[in-house]
Amino acid sequence: MEPFAGELVTDALRELGVDVRTGVNPTRVDRDEHGLVTTTLDDGTTVVTSEVLAATGRSAHTKDLGLETVGLTPGDWLQVDDTMLVQGTDWLYAVGDANHRALLTHQGKYQARAAGEAIAARHQGSPLHTEPWGAHVATADHAAVPQVTFTDPEVASVGLTEAKAREQGLNVRAVEYELGNVAGASLQADGYTGRAKMVVDEDRGVVVGVTFVGQDVAEMLHAATIAVVGEVPVDRLWHAVPAYPTMNEIWLRLLETYGRPE
Ligand SMILES: Cc1cc2nc3c(=O)[nH]c(=O)nc-3n(C[C@H](O)[C@H](O)[C@H](O)COP(=O)(O)OP(=O)(O)OC[C@H]3O[C@@H](n4cnc5c(N)ncnc54)[C@H](O)[C@@H]3O)c2cc1C
Repeated sequence: MEPFAGELVTDALRELGVDVRTGVNPTRVDRDEHGLVTTTLDDGTTVVTSEVLAATGRSAHTKDLGLETVGLTPGDWLQVDDTMLVQGTDWLYAVGDANHRALLTHQGKYQARAAGEAIAARHQGSPLHTEPWGAHVATADHAAVPQVTFTDPEVASVGLTEAKAREQGLNVRAVEYELGNVAGASLQADGYTGRAKMVVDEDRGVVVGVTFVGQDVAEMLHAATIAVVGEVPVDRLWHAVPAYPTMNEIWLRLLETYGRPE
């Protein structure tokens, strides 16, 4: 996730009176006779709360499926190829969280469609289209996973963050724009606060990642997903004219900030 997403959500939580502390770790937790919980942090401060909820990520729920009977290790994520065929087998497919590719409902459904097509094609002896974006592979898992964090403000993103793109060796340039400065935002809410970021692969001239943060930005995400999946050239995106006065004019502002290719 782009760092500014966390910063804007943190700002909003603080405005609501939430005490957000980052960069500290709990060293001790005690519950008193009234049921209140005191958490001691490693900076020496304490926090008193009604309860403590610890969020520690997710692990594979594959312990009790009998994986050992087919030579796999119970409790492990199931490693699959892009057709969702579990590595080391020629008959077992895994879609959804169990394969640890993109732990989201819509990506699991997408993987299931690719796997279903692949299973049918293999059964019928039909040719398999396993090239990127082919009918029998879930290529979007690698390049264009849309996701929304339903906070207020919402965080909606697709594709690569700037940091991730650089990590993958892409020659990218990123631009940001305040969503509140778009005409449509003033119709959405008074004093609208939000930001957008577009990451462009300079070598191919296509958008590889987009992040929106703001009220109701989830509904704008699919246009970004289409731009990333379709590898729409940035100079063609100038011709995708956003209606005035909608929030989608953010595309125009991002393109203006990026600059028109010569
Ligand atoms: C708090 C939270 C919020 C989330 N919010 C979102 C969101 O807003 N949008 C989004 O896209 N995703 C969200 N996700 C992720 C989403 O829930 C998962 O990616 C999705 O449910 C994965 O689907 P799945 O079918 O792979 O697994 P699951 O939905 O976990 O389904 C697996 C099923 O298999 C059953 N099962 C397990 N073992 C056995 C067994 N031995 N025998 C028979 N049945 C068994 C389980 O009971 C379960 O019903 C969220 C997840 C969490 C935890």
